[in-house]
Amino acid sequence: MAAKVNVKTSDSTSTKDLTFLPAINFSFVESVVKSGSKSQGDKEISKGYKYFSEKYLFNISVHKLDNGCMVTARCHRSQKKNESPHEIEISLVEGPGLESSNCSCAIGKSGTCGHVTGLLYTLAHMKASNLKSIPSDILKTSLPQTWHIPRGEKLKNQPS
Ligand SMILES: [Zn+2]
Repeated sequence: MAAKVNVKTSDSTSTKDLTFLPAINFSFVESVVKSGSKSQGDKEISKGYKYFSEKYLFNISVHKLDNGCMVTARCHRSQKKNESPHEIEISLVEGPGLESSNCSCAIGKSGTCGHVTGLLYTLAHMKASNLKSIPSDILKTSLPQTWHIPRGEKLKNQPS
């Protein structure tokens, strides 16, 4: 794993633009999690999938890098929703590859944790859905499960 890059996150560079995001898919997620965690990664994968499918991830934003992007997000805690959420920061490069990952939980400091996995799954799903930007409804924290966006009706074009 490459050295951790400490990129200062500032809101001015934060975007919802998914076109910077390298083409990642679910099998990429599973392979990086397996190689990035101490165990086989099975636990992280099943936790991460749960976080993704139950929409634990929110406040996702993309920051463009030279050869990819940095993504920051927050993840609710599974049992303790009243506690402050975990903070996640990952760097994805073209290839695709996971250059660095960091999470405020105990596991996330030394390896790929379930929260990072959940974020990767969420991003891979958006990429697979051909979204060009992060839907604004992802930012809200409590939503019914409506992953399926009707074809041809994508996101309403906001009048600019
Ligand atoms: Zn974590």
